[in-house]
Amino acid sequence: MTLTTSPYDDDHLHEECAIYGIFGTSDAAAHTALGLHALQHRGQEAAGIVATDGTTFNVHRGLGHVGENFGEDNQEVMDQLVGHSAIGHTRYSTTGETALRNVQPLFADLEFGGFALCHNGNLTNALQVREGLVRQGSIFQSTMDTEVIIHLIARSRRASVVDRLVEAMNQVEGGYSLICMSKDTLIGLRDPFGVRPLVLGKIGDAYILCSETCGLDIIGADFVRDINPGELVVIDAKGVRSFFPFRPRPSRFCIFEYIYFARPDSMVEGHSVYAARKGIGAELANESGVDADVVVPVPDSGVPAAIGYAEASGLPFELGIIRNHYVGRTFIQPTDKVRHLGVKLKHNANRGQLEGKRVILVDDSIVRGTTSTKIVEMVRQAGATEVHMRIASPPTTHSCFYGVDTPERSKLLAAQMSVEEMAEKIGVDSLAFISIDGLYRAMGEAARNNDVPQFCDACFTGDYPISLTDYTGGRTRQLSLLAEAS
Ligand code: AMP
Repeated sequence: MTLTTSPYDDDHLHEECAIYGIFGTSDAAAHTALGLHALQHRGQEAAGIVATDGTTFNVHRGLGHVGENFGEDNQEVMDQLVGHSAIGHTRYSTTGETALRNVQPLFADLEFGGFALCHNGNLTNALQVREGLVRQGSIFQSTMDTEVIIHLIARSRRASVVDRLVEAMNQVEGGYSLICMSKDTLIGLRDPFGVRPLVLGKIGDAYILCSETCGLDIIGADFVRDINPGELVVIDAKGVRSFFPFRPRPSRFCIFEYIYFARPDSMVEGHSVYAARKGIGAELANESGVDADVVVPVPDSGVPAAIGYAEASGLPFELGIIRNHYVGRTFIQPTDKVRHLGVKLKHNANRGQLEGKRVILVDDSIVRGTTSTKIVEMVRQAGATEVHMRIASPPTTHSCFYGVDTPERSKLLAAQMSVEEMAEKIGVDSLAFISIDGLYRAMGEAARNNDVPQFCDACFTGDYPISLTDYTGGRTRQLSLLAEAS
């Protein structure tokens, strides 16, 4: 078995994830399990929790949903995860196989004691750093970018855990939020551009760090504030301390969190995700209204935008497509074949609302175009006389290297075709995307500031705020589990 460093098809690695951490309660792992359950939408392939009572660290990681690993049937597991502090993670990756050794949180016994770490995002120079470390004798256990952080911390000669972490993070680049745990400390950190979210909450005397506020709501915790870009917070018996150890950079929060990724009932970076999506739908209606009888969302991701569209256009909103909730998100299916199948498994036309009608279909995004093509066919088969597709994001023309799973550019429909060509391929009477300035208007900005954009919108503009050291010539040099399997 070779631990490979060979290049491979970029369709297969990026991870999106949820992270969670709590300090200062006797049933830290149970809180974490609930928090991860609320954040399940951010990753459905695997879940893990590490808890500590200040002496020992207990770890459980498994493939599948949070409930399959930390639910009712796993009382034994939960009983072992004792401690006042815990961190947890749900993993999402389109990797062809999911190996348990790549499931987070990562844990290592370091010079100063046990250390656990979980990560949402993507380090863009992880391979380069890793190659250097391997040359110096480091032995890696996983193919995750996150593991380089553990190695860098292990090698640091600095005295405190926080100083070691800062030294490590000064050597990596990327869009990330991190939660780390030592025996007596919980640490949260966002990259200097603040690409990925991280919020602080409180319940009783315990503090929580997690990806989105819905992870606080589930246990009745209060939202305290967002962790700021480039901020490192240390939570211990003394309370919460905040540091800004990195060179300040302009904030570039991921705009796709609002469009698709975050849960609509979450507040991230001061915006309600639901309100943002409705606003995008309204702006879309203003920009590209069309005569029609009914506005129909592609559920669930298109629902808030379709409500906004319907309100702004004065057209009725109907659930013309019904989603079966017992099938995972189509995008997650590892092979193209299953992905096609997934769309049929997931959606069904509600004929009574479509037959004889001119339909405006609203979805949040077109990536490969698989979903739209199938849905449009389904809506036509149900008797719609016209189908107009409206997309609540600009065309996705570029891959994300900061932690949102998008395929390589060659598989992005909008990178290959004009809007007219896409309309023909998808089989609609008309197709329109919100403009980039329309998107910014919906987020409360006058327009995109082209000099210093207010968000990271690289997937729509190709304007990547953080260098892409490991990604050269359209192919990634990230590590491949698939190559290892073959
Ligand atoms: P596609 O069929 O490839 O065009 O995928 C588009 C659908 O996938 C849309 O309905 C989105 O809701 C959803 N989607 C977009 N981006 C992602 C993502 N990064 N991960 C999972 N699903 C996504």
